[in-house]
Amino acid sequence: MSTFQAPKGTYDLIPPKSAVTLAVREAIAAPLKNSGYGYIETPGFENVELFSRGVGESTDIVSKEMYAFETKGGDKLALRPEGTASVLRAALEANLHKAGNLPVKLWYSGSYYRYERPQKGRYRHFSQVGAEAIGAEDPALDAELIILAHQAYRSLGLRDFRILLNSLGDKECRPVYRDALQSFLRALELDEDTRRRIEINPLRVLDDKRAEVQKQLVGAPMLRDYLCDACKAYHEEVRELLTAAGVGYEDDEKLVRGLDYYTRTTFEFVHDGLGSQSAVGGGGRYDGLSEMIGGPALPSVGWALGVDRTILALEAEGIELELPSTTSVFAVPLGEEARRVLFGLVTELRRAGVAADFSYGAKGLKGAMKSANRSGARYTVVAGERDLAEGVVQLKDMQSGEQSPVPLADAANTIRERLA
Ligand code: AMP
Repeated sequence: MSTFQAPKGTYDLIPPKSAVTLAVREAIAAPLKNSGYGYIETPGFENVELFSRGVGESTDIVSKEMYAFETKGGDKLALRPEGTASVLRAALEANLHKAGNLPVKLWYSGSYYRYERPQKGRYRHFSQVGAEAIGAEDPALDAELIILAHQAYRSLGLRDFRILLNSLGDKECRPVYRDALQSFLRALELDEDTRRRIEINPLRVLDDKRAEVQKQLVGAPMLRDYLCDACKAYHEEVRELLTAAGVGYEDDEKLVRGLDYYTRTTFEFVHDGLGSQSAVGGGGRYDGLSEMIGGPALPSVGWALGVDRTILALEAEGIELELPSTTSVFAVPLGEEARRVLFGLVTELRRAGVAADFSYGAKGLKGAMKSANRSGARYTVVAGERDLAEGVVQLKDMQSGEQSPVPLADAANTIRERLA
């Protein structure tokens, strides 16, 4: 193994591509910031119990994929595998739900960790931007979140994504369905692992990708037929609000998702250019989660969008984001005096908000101009002893190649005017 190798299932974000990551995070966050969501940041690790109780012992995320460890002090912690449980924990700890202003709407952005089998689009360290609306049961809130995610993807120029929508029922109707499904599944010919899943999380069996399993699932009881009237009406309202907003979706009765805490509305954004790891984001309502982690009843809804996969989706659609060039002006000094003068000019430009860079190290003119080219700067400022003696610097337009002297005293203003 080479010394310079990132751990398996991880990768580094490196310029210039890393600028795309920042832009994607910003694009996902923008509609949230514009809709009453406040920024929250929680630690990268939590007490392991938060996830085992919240996300669920029976999920792959907790049972197989969690980076859990014991500290030297004996604390049992885990790197966060997802954001919702942490955000809810933080909101409860800060008593945000008691301030009399529900729902509490929060957004976040950060790194998440799952010990998964790495492949394209599936990493052990990945990045999400998420949103949670805590403490209100209102179909308009579910619709709002789906609409905002849709708006975020559209603002990036994405088109080849679909929204899958389902309702998982509530604590009244889901248990009845669960019993019916278990009876059906127990009569099938399934392997040991799947049999175990029937007992702890039977809805996940519906999600099984294997054809021989899917074949046997024909005729399985469907949750839709078991939804109570309240859940049906709620779901219908979400659907109507989405349709009224012009946001298309597909009803997907088999959409279960890999976390135990979901109730009622669940949804996933899938992108058709991504192969097997097609889910770019997902979420849903989690009315029972607060109580599961020891809090009061707080019906809530949220989503998390995967930044890594959103970038793969952009690549799949051939979309290049219009990113502002990182450097507008590049300074090339020839000689010691010019070094001091141009360094001063660069500092002045930067203070005025112009993106400027400087040729560092003792480079000759040729090497320095190469750096100027690579920087992508629109203008290069060159100055030597003779220029300074005349009180000018040479301003070179890197697009046209034209070069002309401008008075040093006005250089910053002239450059700003030309850039504008
Ligand atoms: P989940 O919490 O599993 O619903 O994940 C929400 C989103 O996060 C997914 O739709 C993916 O875009 C992203 N995601 C989840 N797990 C991974 C992973 N191992 N690697 C990359 N992205 C992931």
